[in-house]
Amino acid sequence: MKFALTILGVNAATPAFGRFPTSQILQVHNQYFLLDCGEGTQMRMGDFNVPKHKIREIFISHLHGDHVFGLPGLLFSYDLNGRQEPLRIYSPKGLKEMILAQLRPGVELSFPLHFYEVETTFPRIIFENDVVTVEAIPLKHRIPTMGYIFRERPKLLNIRPEKIQEYQLSVPQIKAAKKGEDILLENDVFVENHVLTFPPLPPRSYAYLTDTIYNETILPFICRVSMLYHDTTFCEEHKDNAALTMHSTARQAAELARKAEVGQLITGHYSSRYKDLEVFLEEARPIFPNTVLGLEGITYEP
Ligand SMILES: [Zn+2]
Ligand SMILES: [Zn+2]
Repeated sequence: MKFALTILGVNAATPAFGRFPTSQILQVHNQYFLLDCGEGTQMRMGDFNVPKHKIREIFISHLHGDHVFGLPGLLFSYDLNGRQEPLRIYSPKGLKEMILAQLRPGVELSFPLHFYEVETTFPRIIFENDVVTVEAIPLKHRIPTMGYIFRERPKLLNIRPEKIQEYQLSVPQIKAAKKGEDILLENDVFVENHVLTFPPLPPRSYAYLTDTIYNETILPFICRVSMLYHDTTFCEEHKDNAALTMHSTARQAAELARKAEVGQLITGHYSSRYKDLEVFLEEARPIFPNTVLGLEGITYEP
């Protein structure tokens, strides 16, 4: 069962050095979630073989252009291709007006398009289905901005195949055992659950936090997440710019990752002043060793 993040765009503000503005795809089992949709997202989906028609939900961090200017093109393509499946877009207030003004006025799209306004002053779960829950948490940036935390739902217990044979378990008994129940067999033999099952792998989680200043108030929400993508627009050398524009440095992101005891830190949202990205790793790794560079076309798994 997949839990994988593919970065489509990792640059801040404008395209530079072949890097695109922000966009990512998170695959959880057989479901695909789009995170932000900067200019060129469609092209990157083509480059990296993303099954774009499988996307049902889009989560937008905030309304700066480098996170949303790819949306009109993507929606236009869906319409041209005759998409039928509904599409749900979650974002801070104002996106609907911004996007609909750019689609053909008065013409119905081929698919139902729903905009959901995310409350930006307090954290809450905004989406859940059979595989995942998504919690939105307020970040600190120049305009209302949300981070999104994806948590895989706890899986059922695994059944030991040899025990099915041994106890001649029926399908309803197998289902009950997977839910943690003890089983009473037809011959009145009682079998405790731990004999029949073994625990599943722990649920995986991903926190997507961009754009934001260093902010320790979010620590309880990202504590021990499997993967954290955090704004690293600048290095410490330019920390004044980070403060001014309400972004973070690689060092700050690493500090947060260390304090939250996350599994892995992925850097990104690089300023166009950096051609070589190794400096981000050099700065972050001494503080949080399990840091990897966020790069386009790379897929990250916990
Ligand atoms: Zn940005
Ligand atoms: Zn921004």
